[in-house]
Amino acid sequence: MIDPGHDLRANLQTEPIGPGSSTLKIKDGGGTRGVVSGTIEAELNLAISLHVRALLEQSGIRVVMTRSRTAGTSMGNIARAGIANRAGAALFLRIHADGSMSHASRGTHTLYPALHAGWTDDIYARSEAAAKIVQAELVGALGFPDRGLQARSDFTGFNWADVPAILVEVGFMTNPIEDRALATDAYRTRAAHGLCRGVLLFLRRSPSRC
Ligand SMILES: [Zn+2]
Repeated sequence: MIDPGHDLRANLQTEPIGPGSSTLKIKDGGGTRGVVSGTIEAELNLAISLHVRALLEQSGIRVVMTRSRTAGTSMGNIARAGIANRAGAALFLRIHADGSMSHASRGTHTLYPALHAGWTDDIYARSEAAAKIVQAELVGALGFPDRGLQARSDFTGFNWADVPAILVEVGFMTNPIEDRALATDAYRTRAAHGLCRGVLLFLRRSPSRC
């Protein structure tokens, strides 16, 4: 399952942060935007995602997408997790780019579900394993600074997932160097190849066809 983050419009409705929780969180506050390119994050996420899908399909992997256009209001994160769960995905790969108040912040990092009994205990270990592999391949492909891994307990899309789930932040669109790079086909292709390699290694397949 490939989940290109966000959509054309934010969704300010709320939803429970996990099954049975009374803590509500906005469905999707919207993504960031390229400080130089002006590209919206949803478009970058989708461009990389479509390339990853093509590479994985050519490697014999069946791929489902949460969205294949940037055209509407974001569906929210329970819906995204539900699509991955119903597909019985081997991996729920969420593709994002980061934003920061500081234009100096840069680098690639990968988030995975924190351990929470009843919510993520069934997917935590496999998700962390996937995060390690995919982060290493993505950093190797892009050459951006390695910001490492981060376990998150506050991500609705993780807490509702019943399949291994990770969220990659390929780089910072608020950093001029990384925004300029990620606006090019060359860097989007690099990101896609790194993600394809990471997924195939996690699935214990040869990444040679990425
Ligand atoms: Zn995002």
